[in-house]
Amino acid sequence: MSHPVTDLIHHAYVPPVGFEAPQPGVFKASTVIFPSVAAMRNREWKDKSAYTYGLHGTPTSYQLEERLCSVEGGLQCVLVPSGLAALGLVALSVLKSGDEVLLPDNVYGPNKALVEGELMHWGITHQYYDPMDPQDLEAQISSRTKLVWLEAAGSVTLEFPDLLGLLKICKQRKVLTALDNTWGAGLAFKPFDLVPDESPALGVDISAHALTKYPSGGGDVLMGSVITRDPALHLRIKLTHMRFGLGVGMNDVEAILRSLPSMALRYRAHDEATRTLALWADTQPEFVQVLHPSLPGSPGHMHWKALCVKGIGGAAGLFSVMLDERFSQAQTDAFCDALKLFKLGYSWGGPMSLVVPYELAQMRTSWPTHLEKGTLVRFSIGLEDVLDLQQDISQALHALR
Ligand SMILES: *Cc1c(COP(=O)(O)O)cnc(C)c1O
Repeated sequence: MSHPVTDLIHHAYVPPVGFEAPQPGVFKASTVIFPSVAAMRNREWKDKSAYTYGLHGTPTSYQLEERLCSVEGGLQCVLVPSGLAALGLVALSVLKSGDEVLLPDNVYGPNKALVEGELMHWGITHQYYDPMDPQDLEAQISSRTKLVWLEAAGSVTLEFPDLLGLLKICKQRKVLTALDNTWGAGLAFKPFDLVPDESPALGVDISAHALTKYPSGGGDVLMGSVITRDPALHLRIKLTHMRFGLGVGMNDVEAILRSLPSMALRYRAHDEATRTLALWADTQPEFVQVLHPSLPGSPGHMHWKALCVKGIGGAAGLFSVMLDERFSQAQTDAFCDALKLFKLGYSWGGPMSLVVPYELAQMRTSWPTHLEKGTLVRFSIGLEDVLDLQQDISQALHALR
């Protein structure tokens, strides 16, 4: 008979097998137990054939990885603690000293901070290209270019690039492509199959996704994924991922597994409400430009239409407005402060509508010619009643007037 304390740790009871419920169980571990030394020595950690250590995954994270592959059309996936960590992991996996990475000028801001503040110190240089001008990308590719970031639509200003055109240039020049797929979420378009029915498939090499947004959907979990279709490329990413110890918590994985089945429904609801509000905003005289790829006047509208109108299609729940340049930044800030339902906060994809005023001049190498002059405000549309949201913007505009 062992001591009750020992018994609590090495208990004989094993629950019956065969439990099934709509939601998968949560397996949490740092330590994973092996049945023998031979198993300990022989188990493979790099694929999903077995379990070796919590950092390398449990049934819970394997399930999320596989489901995310299905959504995005990839074959392999690694999970990381945030969307930004996904961007960093891609860079560290495929770049080395002497290499150069190209990023669109409207890339997610912290990706700029990453290349400017970290990769520079590793001897990795960067250049920004005009996402609306494939020739500019082509001109900037050199023998040192080893990675091109793509984003559709771009962050904050939501220009929709000629993704296929940009991709074809990279393929021709044999440069690896990574898409920040947070906006499309695997729903607006299929990043690994940009031309349906084409064989071999034409698509990006890597899709990085901030699961923090739509897959989470709650504004309460941070996570990222890096999805690929090429086993060799996945292995490079997987090794870097292991060496940096970029594990995720299984309670967070569970939260995303729980939200994932409703993601497509939520995406559609966010999309519909956003388009309604963007159309209405376009009629307000204070807004000299409304940026949303479904609007004919929005940069890259035709590219969005060509890529995203088929299938489930659609657009994420974001639009930006340019306030007339007669309004100062202080007035624009006051407009944002006057909003009641729209809360001031970063991120998107959750139930609560959010607003952020951006100082765009400091975020771009130069003022994009396709944008009106003014001060920019980005709205992220939640799941509130759309008329309530419209009235909220309306009352804040009255305060501005
Ligand atoms: C939010 C976001 C990220 C980063 O995600 P975090 O989980 O917040 O680090 C990356 N790319 C895009 C386009 C995003 O919107």
